[in-house]
Amino acid sequence: MDDLELHAHLIGQQGSRAALNTPVLVVDLDQLERNIAAMQALVAARGVALRPHGKTHKSVDIARRQIAAGAVGLCCAKIGEAEVFADGGITGLLITSPVAAPAAVTRLAALAGRSSGLMAAVDNPGVVARLQHALAEADTTLDVVIDVDPGIRRTGVASPEAAVELAEAIAVADNITLRGVQYYCGMQQHVEEYAARHAAIVERTAYLQSVIDALVAAGFAPEIVTGSGTGTHHIDLELGLFTELQAGSYVFMDKQYLDCDLTGDGRVPFDPSLAVDARVVSANHDALVTIDAGFKSLSTDGGAAQVRSGAAPETMFIFMGDEHAALVAPDIGRTLKPGDPVSLTVPHCDPTVNLYDHYHVVRDGTLVEIWPVSARGRAR
Ligand code: PLP
Ligand code: MN
Repeated sequence: MDDLELHAHLIGQQGSRAALNTPVLVVDLDQLERNIAAMQALVAARGVALRPHGKTHKSVDIARRQIAAGAVGLCCAKIGEAEVFADGGITGLLITSPVAAPAAVTRLAALAGRSSGLMAAVDNPGVVARLQHALAEADTTLDVVIDVDPGIRRTGVASPEAAVELAEAIAVADNITLRGVQYYCGMQQHVEEYAARHAAIVERTAYLQSVIDALVAAGFAPEIVTGSGTGTHHIDLELGLFTELQAGSYVFMDKQYLDCDLTGDGRVPFDPSLAVDARVVSANHDALVTIDAGFKSLSTDGGAAQVRSGAAPETMFIFMGDEHAALVAPDIGRTLKPGDPVSLTVPHCDPTVNLYDHYHVVRDGTLVEIWPVSARGRAR
């Protein structure tokens, strides 16, 4: 019997979380649902739509819950993610990264023919021409938004003039309809101090307004202004320029976002719903034990994980290679023994999720469901 079959037998058994083999990706269903409801309530109070980013969870099961709570659709990073969500019955998909590879453009045209409400972000007239060709071949149409670079030079048109030029290129593409603009301030999301993040977003929003003004003057008034993230959702809702938010990480909350003051008053409506459960595998030193989760179980770009249960929260976490990490605290090696469970808040949720095939879904310490990470590895 493999691991997953063993785990499937534990579904519904009281306290079965503790019996799961480790390391394992765990999601707390009640907290997940609280986070989904909280963001939906925040946008609804401002008359703004929510198209949460699916790159965070890559899960059709979670996407369905977000739609049921009122989301207008889901964002996807890549065409491969969008295909998986479409196959799972999710509509209103927006692909937020430019699709440029010829094979991907062909797949995008094919998906446009079968995915209701599909949209894609574009930032280049040449790609628009290529896309037009593929859509005409497939005898279908697609809505697009112009991706606007917030100044990080990753993706997006680099000036108001370039936005207008792209809008003109879209206007002559018979099978493509311009719906609006996309603006994701990636650099500002994790500015830890609220006042600094607020000031940066006020300044960046003035720039977005200048791009919108140029589009309006040229006859391309955007119907949709989509963007924002967990780090700036509060500020973006207050500033009122977005018609819809793309926040993603709020469903899980990771250590990186826990370190940010998201609202300026400490009253953050989201709590961590995601954990990696690990185990002590070696305990031969007074102040150090070794657990079974290393680089292959936690993304390493976000710093150290944080102990959530099984040891004191101030316990130091130190990666110890591919398969292991050390937990360091006075006397931890005298209190914890091999086999003891430790639950960790993940440093950065999106790349951590992509390391696992399944979510083990728990409620009050009991395994209640196992969900696939449906779009795992769909990076193209
Ligand atoms: N929109 C875009 C274009 C993104 O790249 C991301 C995440 O990187 C998001 C939305 C979601 O942001 P967050 O995870 O900060 O909520
Ligand atoms: Mn992220």
